Amino acid sequence: MARLTLKGLGKRFGTVEAVRDLDLEIADGEFVVFVGPSGCGKSTLLRLIAGLEEADAGSLAFDGEPVDHLPPAERGVAMVFQSYALYPHMTVFDNMAFGLRLGRLGRGEIAARVEAAARILKIESLLGRKPRQLSGGQRQRVAIGRAIVREPRVFLFDEPLSNLDAGLRAEMRIELARLHRRLRATMVYVTHDQMEAMTLARRIVVLNEGRAEQVGTPRELYESPVNRFVAGFIGAPRMNFIEVTLRHAGDAGVVVELPGGSHITIPADSRGIDPGAPLALGVRPEHLTRGPGIVGEVAAVEPLGAETLVHVELPGGTLAILSERGRSTAHPGDRLEVVPSEAHCHLFDAAGRALPRPDP
Ligand code: ATP
Repeated sequence: MARLTLKGLGKRFGTVEAVRDLDLEIADGEFVVFVGPSGCGKSTLLRLIAGLEEADAGSLAFDGEPVDHLPPAERGVAMVFQSYALYPHMTVFDNMAFGLRLGRLGRGEIAARVEAAARILKIESLLGRKPRQLSGGQRQRVAIGRAIVREPRVFLFDEPLSNLDAGLRAEMRIELARLHRRLRATMVYVTHDQMEAMTLARRIVVLNEGRAEQVGTPRELYESPVNRFVAGFIGAPRMNFIEVTLRHAGDAGVVVELPGGSHITIPADSRGIDPGAPLALGVRPEHLTRGPGIVGEVAAVEPLGAETLVHVELPGGTLAILSERGRSTAHPGDRLEVVPSEAHCHLFDAAGRALPRPDP
């Protein structure tokens, strides 16, 4: 398996900068997920690693050796696509063996590798079938099997679960995590689904317009987003953003005025920002509770079983979501006073940058 070093990597398509000045070190055996909205450059970045696109700037190395000049077949990467890309006229066995037959492996070795991968993926009984005789989840397993048999230095996954229904996606997520533990392989995975990123990644790279906004563990991104983009992208339901006004910096933190006029103190550092400045207060639905703070009106109630999401319209028209455990007594039209938990609030300046917080 390989350690990957991306240095100043860049790729343009005409006027579009798909990937900009990307620096990243991926450890041997690490599971890294690139996540971001459509068009942020995730697939291009993966294709640059695979050698399917040529970089305009920067360099890429595997275990310290530059691979920029190597064609895809010589990089030792295996890619799994959303579309599965199986040969329809070949059996599952032949689909998995195809790439190996182009190499110099003997028949016995090929059969041994295919059977071992099929065992890992629990598709031994399907080896004689054609792709059209398989379900979507089974086809995706075959596509993953085809990558496993190649014993690549790096696995690259491009939205591999997007074509599956929600239940199967959740199941395959767990299987991929187990597969990673078992193979101890370097895996790079692209998705627009932050939930997939949170559950699979050891580290997540949040991309926006070709740039890495933040790189960190799921917990770091969840608890300490560096800007409003990351804060809003990671976590479901998403973080609430409430417009507040900076009043003054106190000993315990920053005193802000909430819509409606009451004040709270948030542990953060507002140096360089003048009193009276508008800030965005970010608070996750589980950290917004009932209590004296902001008077709003319940707009909608979504009972989800284990939790209920209460949508509250705040003064000024902002909608905020409050997550309550189990059932909620709230009804649309009710007056509801809510308060953000001070210790869990984030503040963002006018440019969307997070104000520094004391270490947790
Ligand atoms: P999605 O989730 O929609 O697949 P993505 O994050 O994977 O999006 P990319 O496919 O990497 O995004 O594309 C990044 C940007 O580069 C987009 O603006 C896209 O239109 C552009 N782009 C990608 N490939 C090409 C190409 N071959 N020619 C021109 N522009 C391209």
